Amino acid sequence: MHRSHLFNELIELYTHAGASYERARRWRFDAVVGNGPTDAAGNLVITAALAAIFADTASHLAIGLWLIAINALSLIRLGIFFAHPRADQARRRRLQRLFSISLVAHAALWASSFLLFAPPDSIAHRSAVLIWLAGCAAWVVAAYTPLIEAVLGFLLVQLLPVSLVLLLSGARFWQLVAVACLMFLPTMAMVALRTHAQLMRGTVTQFEKEELAAALEQEKKVVLELNRDLAADLARRERVEADLREAKTRAERLAQELEKLSSLDGLTGIANRRRFDQTLAREWSRAQRGEQSLALILCDIDYFKQYNDHYGHQAGDACLRQLAKLLEGSLHRGGDLAARYGGEEFAILLPGLDIEHAAGLAEGIRENLFELGLPHAASAVAPVLTASFGVAAMVPGSEHAPDQLVQQADQALYAAKAAGRNRVHRAGERSLAPLGTQDSLLH
Ligand code: GH3
Ligand code: MG
Ligand code: MG
Repeated sequence: MHRSHLFNELIELYTHAGASYERARRWRFDAVVGNGPTDAAGNLVITAALAAIFADTASHLAIGLWLIAINALSLIRLGIFFAHPRADQARRRRLQRLFSISLVAHAALWASSFLLFAPPDSIAHRSAVLIWLAGCAAWVVAAYTPLIEAVLGFLLVQLLPVSLVLLLSGARFWQLVAVACLMFLPTMAMVALRTHAQLMRGTVTQFEKEELAAALEQEKKVVLELNRDLAADLARRERVEADLREAKTRAERLAQELEKLSSLDGLTGIANRRRFDQTLAREWSRAQRGEQSLALILCDIDYFKQYNDHYGHQAGDACLRQLAKLLEGSLHRGGDLAARYGGEEFAILLPGLDIEHAAGLAEGIRENLFELGLPHAASAVAPVLTASFGVAAMVPGSEHAPDQLVQQADQALYAAKAAGRNRVHRAGERSLAPLGTQDSLLH
């Protein structure tokens, strides 16, 4: 460390480091105070030895007082050693000041020992004191560097008066000794300053590192906290999303259920008129596009009014349900639809079927219903429940409308009724004779 560096470092420490420097001094003072017991014990021994040396050259009373005073100072520092750990901040500052003052006062007493007790003509006595003084200066520089003001004060108060007295003594020998002492003073001061600067810089850097580490730790905590919050937020959002998805699925299911319900007939459970109309429109367009045949069977129970009158309305309902079941059971292709067209009338839509096949299917249903043998005592056509069927089919052209197909099937049904009931009639066909199976049943 160059001199300019040293002073820059010291100035920087005093002016910029501020709070950290003060903290470093306080922290270092804890270590300095620890010298108390060594200081007191060593001081007692070396001052006693010096007093013994002066016993035959100076007043015993003066030496005794000096001995008491100089040891009292080291006892003060020993007291600070004990009092310091329990003291609060303000008291510590006061103890630190007292410690520094006691050190400078100590230097004054050392200097006075030379000036008061060493006879000017005794090289031995003067040399002995000078050795003591040099030793003490070295001890103070080594032990109390953190209290740099006290150390510099000590060196100045101890060495300057002695050097001046020697310089002014007129004796060449003592003047040379004084020059040495005067050179010793700045050298020791520089050593003390340099050590002080290094020690303090190290301590300040350590504090700054600790503060930085603490700040980083704090930052880490904040980041971790944020992370936790984010994770909780995410989990909450995922939960809400899952709830929403579930609610949506439920709503869709309900909508489907509703759609199904609104398209089913309440009594028979098969498609209702609404669904029939929708399907007819759709299949009509499809058949139109594909230029395919679309067949329709209309089915109406014979003498149903009489059935109700005879067996009651509830029995009539049961009949409707049974016929609906039979109709549905007769359909095997995906696109076929059996619907309750209204009252005791049913419709069967058969995409892709021509009139021939549709009539065959209708005939099969008619036979099955007949063979079911549901008693109908009030029927004029048979002793069992029968139905009449009107069948129509067409390849829809652009000049046609779905109503035309319904109308044709309706007309065919009307024709079937007119021809005696319990029969299948195709649109555009002349009335057929009543079927042989029920000929025998007809009255
Ligand atoms: P036709 O052979 O000419 O068809 O004679 P029909 O008596 O069957 O025809 P009509 O149109 O005179 O009477 C239809 C009867 O169907 C009248 C009504 O009581 C009955 N009906 C309509 N809807 C229901 C229903 O939901 N339940 C019951 N039990 N009967 C119904
Ligand atoms: Mg009818
Ligand atoms: Mg009828």
